[in-house]
Amino acid sequence: MSEALNETKYLFKKYKVKANKNLGQNFLIDDDALQDIVNGANINSNDLVIEIGPGLGSLTKLLLKKAKKVVCIELDKKMVKILKDRFILDKNLEIINNDVLKLDINAIIKEQKKQNLDIENVKIVANLPYYITTPIIMHLIENNLDIESITVMIQKEVAERLITIPGTKDTGAITYTIYYYCEGTKIREVDNTCFMPEPEVTSEVINLQMRKTPPVKVEDKKVFFNIIKSAYMQRRKTLINSLSNVGVFQNKEQGEKILKSIGLRVDIRPDKMRIEDFARLTEIFLKNIKNDNSQK
Ligand code: SAM
Repeated sequence: MSEALNETKYLFKKYKVKANKNLGQNFLIDDDALQDIVNGANINSNDLVIEIGPGLGSLTKLLLKKAKKVVCIELDKKMVKILKDRFILDKNLEIINNDVLKLDINAIIKEQKKQNLDIENVKIVANLPYYITTPIIMHLIENNLDIESITVMIQKEVAERLITIPGTKDTGAITYTIYYYCEGTKIREVDNTCFMPEPEVTSEVINLQMRKTPPVKVEDKKVFFNIIKSAYMQRRKTLINSLSNVGVFQNKEQGEKILKSIGLRVDIRPDKMRIEDFARLTEIFLKNIKNDNSQK
């Protein structure tokens, strides 16, 4: 029997705990899947690893063997108590009992680097609670964190949307954000039988390497991502319709002219747009605003 399964059963019994569905507690009980997450994260002996949602500590146990330091962020007090007991001898572990979305992760990293001058890179590793996967990933990538990579297990369907190339199959508004900040790769799929209790969906482990420079230049990131969001508000509509409705194009005629000028079909739908196309649209939109303002 798998070691993780044995340990999970033992801890459930010893602490009389049950998985809390409201906190997305699906514990990973498959040794190979656990090892593949750690291998996929490519952890070195001088790395600081931040683990989100350690639960009973099955992944934590493996991370502690590889990293210089592991900082775990866990919302559930009961889990924190178990983790403290289980890893009492591990001096390279710190546990923070809080909601990851409420924490200033950069402040945590700065403090760790101050305490431990040997730390070279920071890597985030997690089997994420599925009910808040997207907010957590956005919290990590939009805050300019001093991290090298994020390796997470999430719902397969979401994973595919995150790591596809914008403008190809499975593209959604979030695809552009991830692609702008990271280079994503699939590590492996994980069947629902690898968890206790079993989730209803298949999972996937992905690795996101933070880019040093973004793939496109944009003058105003906020405007760029707002245009993308507006285009995807009604993803079945043409881009012209969606962007005319929110005033990115003054009207459909102007929209047609702009799309033609950058070599795009006038009936293009948002999910056929490459990131470069949205960057060009943003550039034209900002230029038109500047021109309008200078004429006033
Ligand atoms: N890492 C463990 C494993 O692989 O077996 C548990 C993973 S379980 C899918 C998700 C974990 O995230 C749970 O332990 C849950 O209590 C924790 N969690 C849920 N919401 C959280 C939040 N907002 N902040 C931090 N941890 C959270």
